[in-house]
Amino acid sequence: MGLNRIIAALLILALPASLSGLTHTVRKGENLTTIAQAYSVSVAAIKKANNIKDADVIRIGQKLSIPGTAPTFIEYTIKKGESLSSIATRHGLKAKELGAYNGIRNLNKITAGQVIRIPSKTGVAPPKWAKLPASVRQALDKIAVKPNQWKRIVIHHSGTTADRAINIARVHKEERRMENGLAYHFVIENGTRGTRNGDIYISNRWKKQLNGGHMKIHAHNQISIGICLIGNFEKTRPKAKQLEQLEALIAYLRLKTNVPAKYVTTHTLMHPNHTLCPGKYFPAHLLKEMAQ
Ligand SMILES: [Zn+2]
Repeated sequence: MGLNRIIAALLILALPASLSGLTHTVRKGENLTTIAQAYSVSVAAIKKANNIKDADVIRIGQKLSIPGTAPTFIEYTIKKGESLSSIATRHGLKAKELGAYNGIRNLNKITAGQVIRIPSKTGVAPPKWAKLPASVRQALDKIAVKPNQWKRIVIHHSGTTADRAINIARVHKEERRMENGLAYHFVIENGTRGTRNGDIYISNRWKKQLNGGHMKIHAHNQISIGICLIGNFEKTRPKAKQLEQLEALIAYLRLKTNVPAKYVTTHTLMHPNHTLCPGKYFPAHLLKEMAQ
């Protein structure tokens, strides 16, 4: 072995495992699909490299070897006293860029122990779910999504111009006597009634992985994730921020559930004869692109 080769071998040994891209420790809320996407490898390749027969039986803390090329994203746990800009600088990025990859809007608001994703190659576009605020992603990550339950994502509007999720939840529970409350799994606020435009309300039906109550047919409710945007889109267009967060939420949900892009749809596309929901100003023609 020549001197250069020995030096190269020593350098490889000195690299921390996270940088070599060879192992990944499974965290809560992750599945093989999300892990495969983070490293730009196929689920099949990870299964093969780790001798996994059933993709549903990976557990938190399990170490997986990631085959093939260097990862697209490295997971990094923020240490006490570190700032986003110091971490960004070390990786050849700007704090703002690193924030964008992780849905962090306030660049000063990070905490020790928080796990962020750092692109390991230059020019990697942030995934669409990165537009979700870090707080929303953390809340979503805590929910154990039932495997193989969800086959479709259906979009609705509230049909009301000024409204908010907790009000609709009250109406569904108290007036429509729906035992599980709010019929939808998610509501995206529009900034009226004291809400912040684009805020995502996660309902109990999603937290507990319960059937929706947003479709007429029970069989549809069993497999359809319901997302309601506040507004009456027969009268006005949805707000840009609502659409941005809808797109990010769809991307996140598709990673967790494997719902194909073609099954991201609207209420009226499912039932053209009995509803106009989510209204003629909802840009349904953009759904296909949004869900990609
Ligand atoms: Zn509807």
